[in-house]
Order: sequence, then C-alpha cells, then structure tokens
Amino acid sequence: MLKQLWTIVLDLVYPPKCPGCRGGVDVHGSWCGACLGRVLAPREISVHLHRLHHLDFCLTVCDYSGGVKRVIHDMKFRQAKKYACHLEGLLEMGVAPGRILSPELVIPVPLHAERLKERGYNQNDLIFKGWAKRQGLMWCSDNLVRTRPTQPQWELKLSERRKNIKDAFVVTRPDDVFGRSILLVDDIITSGTTMDECARTLKKSGARTVCGLTLASGAPN
Ligand SMILES: [Zn+2]
Repeated sequence: MLKQLWTIVLDLVYPPKCPGCRGGVDVHGSWCGACLGRVLAPREISVHLHRLHHLDFCLTVCDYSGGVKRVIHDMKFRQAKKYACHLEGLLEMGVAPGRILSPELVIPVPLHAERLKERGYNQNDLIFKGWAKRQGLMWCSDNLVRTRPTQPQWELKLSERRKNIKDAFVVTRPDDVFGRSILLVDDIITSGTTMDECARTLKKSGARTVCGLTLASGAPN
C-alpha cells in the first residue's frame, strides 16, 4: 500500500518519460512504441566477417543510433545512471530465451582503474548486472581486469585498434574461468577488437567458450 502510494507520488513529481523522445510513457524505464521500433534490432554480429578469432559468437540488441546512442553517451559521460533501467529493459526484450546458451559466468568488459575512479562506476555493471541475475546467471566483475589505460577505440583506425588494446587485460583468478563457458558483455560493439582481446585473454586462462552480448552495435552485421 505504502509502496503504491509512493509510486503515485513519484509519478506525479517525475512523470515517466521515454528517453528517446522525452514523450510520456506509462511506466518508468519504458520506451514509447515509435522509439522502440527505431532502436530495437536484435541480431547476430558475424565474428567471421569482423575477423574476430577468439570470440565464439556475438549478439547485439540495438542499433547504436537515435535515443540509444544519446542514452549510452549520457550514462558514460554525464553521470546519467538513471537510464540503466531503460537499457536493461531493452535487454529483456532483445535477448530471446535460449538465444544465450547457458553461460556459467557473465563477465563485463572492464574499465581501467583510473577511468573507473573518474566515472565512479562501470556502465556495464549498471546495464547488465540486474539482467544477468534475473536470468539466474552468475555475475563476475572482478576477475577480468584492464591493466593499463587505453585510448578510446573509436578515435583509432582498425589496425591501430588491435595494437591499442593488445595485452591490455589480465585474468586475476584463472581457476575461476578454467573450463567455463563465459558470456562477455559490453555496452557497444563496433569493430569488436576489444571484446576479441578480452576473449583471447579469457581463453588463455582456459575458458572453454566465450560468447559476446552487447547492448548496441555500430556495425552493420
Ligand atoms: Zn520515444
């Protein structure tokens, strides 16, 4: 009863809005139909086409455009943590049951400690952790670590991206990934070089399979 009252008061003070067009919606965390239709585009990202040699399979949920692009940007650079529920909702809708083959661990692509300190959070934790737990999957955000700061990949050409990210990650507890099937999660995929380097690092520590899931993709397929 108290909770319902609180929700009514909250809705009056902060009416639920679509993060894409800022139009009114029924429930906090949802998108309007028009914006949802524009952004939701679940599909497989071809690891062969992108020449990713270590990632076994990769799925994405949205196009990196319109409302999703702005929301991810604001979460990363303007402290807009409030959008996490909107992005988590896209995962709920975009990842069909059974599409992700029962991974034993879900591991987010890590930030370097300096970036984490500066931002205060890893946006991947906010986007994926609640979703993973609701799927009954084990979340592990402290085993794969970024050992050095790297230049943002989008500033670089493809050949420079591979060099930039090479050997930038380490697994701190190899026993925990040995023989395991891993789901690696990240907010955006473009060339896939960062995720592939993470997959290489995990497999070097004995991971059996590494599949990827990203919220958005800037790549055509
Ligand atoms: Zn909208």
